[in-house]
Amino acid sequence: MKFTPKLIAIAALCAASAGAQAAFTINLSFTGLTATQESYFTAAKSFWEGVITGYVGSATLGGLVIDASGQAIDGVGGVLGSAGPTGGVFSGGYAYATDGVMQFDTADIDSMIAAGSFTDVIRHEMAHTIGFGTVWDLNNVYVDGSGQYTGAHALAAYRVEYNQPGATFVPVELGGSPGTANSHWNEVDNGTGNTGLIDPQGRDMRRELMTGWLNTPAYLSATTLASFQDIGYVLALSPVPEPAPYALLLAGMAVVALRRRHG
Ligand SMILES: [Zn+2]
Repeated sequence: MKFTPKLIAIAALCAASAGAQAAFTINLSFTGLTATQESYFTAAKSFWEGVITGYVGSATLGGLVIDASGQAIDGVGGVLGSAGPTGGVFSGGYAYATDGVMQFDTADIDSMIAAGSFTDVIRHEMAHTIGFGTVWDLNNVYVDGSGQYTGAHALAAYRVEYNQPGATFVPVELGGSPGTANSHWNEVDNGTGNTGLIDPQGRDMRRELMTGWLNTPAYLSATTLASFQDIGYVLALSPVPEPAPYALLLAGMAVVALRRRHG
């Protein structure tokens, strides 16, 4: 399944003062969604707040405000919606999203809930709204069209996690629609084959949460986690080079996901 993010340039720029780190929080507002649909957004908020805890470059940011909305667009399939930052600030050498949108066709939400894929889709789209693939250029970790992500933390994680010790970049998707190219980790176009990149738990990278095509169940890699360090976020636990805490973190996430599924 493919979801095209709306890649909106950060428009509102202002300077924030330096100092102690501020906590990272996501504040959701809902329009046109049922309580069940809203619960998936709330779960994804908890998921990301559980791994991202603060801002390296700012003491004053009040968190990320996301307007989550549903509307009838074109039935099941076709246009799923759009997601991404709509405003942000430069602070401490980083570009941060402060506002964003996640807009869905309600027919597709219900279809994805029924298919069991909506948890992964919402986590994926919320990651774009936080900044994955949407503020890479502003943070100097990626040049559009290059296919080469060079942020130091994610690259270090990638070398270890996918046994690519000589890598000088993390490969970025250049195929697919404009919303897919340049804002995801690379995989076989349309998600139709294995990448051959295997993590320590034997999982091919095609199933990673932030590749361009969703293969459920998706997993969150240390590489993706570390990419948020590259764009100025403080993580709950450092993904590399401390494999033991990272394994514990993932185990914790799996428990949470399982509980939600049965809840
Ligand atoms: Zn995406």
